[in-house]
This record gives sequence, C-alpha cells and structure tokens, in this order.
Amino acid sequence: MSKTITKIAVLTSGGDAPGMNAAIRSVVRTCAFHNIECVGIYRGYQGMIEGDFKEMGPRSVNNIINKGGTILKSARSKEFQTQEGREKAYQHLKNANIKALIVIGGDGSFTGAEIFSKEYDFPVMGIPGTIDNDIFGTSHTLGYDTALNTVIECIDKIRDTASSHNRLFLVEVMGRDAGHIALNAGIGAGAEEILIPEENLGLERLLESLQKSKASGKSSSIVVVAEGDNTGKNVFELKEYIEKHLPEYDTRVSVLGHMQRGGSPSCFDRVLASRLGVKAVESLLEGKSNFMAGIDKDEIVLVPLQQAIKGHYPINTELLRVSDIMST
Ligand code: ATP
Repeated sequence: MSKTITKIAVLTSGGDAPGMNAAIRSVVRTCAFHNIECVGIYRGYQGMIEGDFKEMGPRSVNNIINKGGTILKSARSKEFQTQEGREKAYQHLKNANIKALIVIGGDGSFTGAEIFSKEYDFPVMGIPGTIDNDIFGTSHTLGYDTALNTVIECIDKIRDTASSHNRLFLVEVMGRDAGHIALNAGIGAGAEEILIPEENLGLERLLESLQKSKASGKSSSIVVVAEGDNTGKNVFELKEYIEKHLPEYDTRVSVLGHMQRGGSPSCFDRVLASRLGVKAVESLLEGKSNFMAGIDKDEIVLVPLQQAIKGHYPINTELLRVSDIMST
C-alpha cells in the first residue's frame, strides 16, 4: 500500500441515488481500516470550490447504510466547469493536505474528475452512483436496483386501480437516454408494452399490440414509457394518440418522477456500495488513479474513467424478446 496517500476526500455529485450513503460509509471505514484520514466534501464540486469539508471517522457514518439520499448532499456546479473554479477547488484540497479524491456520481461527475485529475495530476477514483444504470463498464450502478424495486411497487399499485376500472395506464419512468429501468421494471411489473430510448417499435405496433390484447380478453393494460422514449411523443401526447385511434380505451397517465430516486437502498445496493468503496480506497492506496470501480459478473473491476464516460451500457436485447413473449 502507498505511503504517499495519507488523506482521502469523498464527495457525491449529480443526481442523488440510494446507496450513496452506503458508499460514503464504506469509503470512510476502509480509510479508517488502513489508518488513512478521510474528509467528506459537502455539496459535490461546489463544496470543493468553497472548502466545505468535514473530517470523517468510522463513527461519523453510523446508521446511514439504510438511508436514501446522501448525507454529504449533492449539487451540480457550473463553476467547476471553469478553470478558475477548479483552481479554487485544488487550493482547498492542497491546504487541507488531501492527497486523493473519490467521486460518487454519474458520467458528468466522472468527466469533471477526469479533467481535474489531468489538470493537477491529482489521483481520483469514481464510484458509479446514478439510478439510470447508464455507465459503461459496470452492469449495475448504485441506486439502480433500488429504483427498479420502487418502480415495480408503484406499478403493482397502479395495476390494482387499472384492473378495477378496465383502464389503460401509461406509466412514465426515469431514463432520458437509457431504457434499463423501463425495460426491467416493465418486465417485472408485467407491462403490456415498454417504450425505451434505444428502440423505436413504431406507434402502429403499439396500437396493434393494444388491440390484440383487448381482443384476447385483457380488460386493463400497463404501458411503461421511459422519459426519453423513441416514439417522439411524450407520455401525454401518447395518451392523446391512443385515445384518438382506440377510443374504446379509458387511458390514464402516471408520471412516477422523483419518488424513483428516494427510499432506503435495497440489499443489493448496500452490498455493492460496500464493495465499491473498499475497491476505490484500496486502488488509490495501490497507486492507481483515473478508474471507476464497477461490477461485472459479480466481480468488482476497475474501468478507466475515460471508457466509463464515453461508453454506454447497452440494453440486453434478450429482454426485449422476453417482454414481447410475456405480453402474449
Ligand atoms: P446524473 O447521471 O445523476 O445526472 P451526473 O454525474 O452525470 O449524474 P451532471 O450534472 O452531468 O450529473 O454532472 C455533475 C457535475 O459534474 C456538474 O454539475 C459539474 O460540476 C461536473 N461536471 C460535469 N461535466 C463537467 C465538465 N465537462 N467539466 C467539469 N466539470 C463537469
């Protein structure tokens, strides 16, 4: 283990995700295990620019493994995108004798970390924390599994009212650029159709599928729509379109929104966060930098930040076929 890294800082940045607290806890306790000092930075890069730091020991992360959100708060910082902002941030790290940085966030946060690291030759590690699961090199990001469970719980409830009134529900879930939540939660919740950014099956096909399902005796239906679905229509426009072409359907819209980000993390996310935190700290102590700790086939792996930022974790096309068969 490196003797040059004596103090590590950790921050959370971008959209919050369940499991971020469990990752903070893991980073802090792994530092303590290796007798390394640890500093929490509040409000992401903005707090780094303002020197909003707090020394953290193993007892400062008691009772947070089960909590959603992030105790360090998150933020989006425009100032960090400027050289002046990053210079201020560097000076604060230097003054506090911090030797390395762990960033828990999404691809935007990793881009900031990569730029900062290159500019100041400063060791950084990323931990993927975003519910969208859109980061290349890791099969799961922190918060994704919890978000899936939240979504299916909501859709189960919507199904109760849909079937009582013979209604069609269009349920919008998060995912501007990635359909992982829609596809997996859609299958898990038994959706009739799933509309995602990666595939455009066409509006005709949607109508055909709904007609077929009515003819086959189904009295209610759920269609899961990712925010960035590829039909070119948002969920309210889709409702109008369906009502115009299939007036026999009583169609309702439900936008799940920010509730998908909240809640106590699932067991999977807590274990993943604990494993990624250990890997991130120990990799820094081994002298590594500019990697993201991720998971692939249940192995914790290191992925170059560059790759994690540029790539996109692809949709599993087998799931599309399963979804098709299940809506028979
Ligand atoms: P989510 O996937 O939840 O949106 P994210 O990490 O992608 O998370 P962003 O808002 O894209 O969220 O990025 C978070 C922060 O990272 C930004 O507010 C900014 O401070 C920093 N950042 C993003 N892009 C850059 C960049 N090109 N240069 C410097 N900093 C950046």
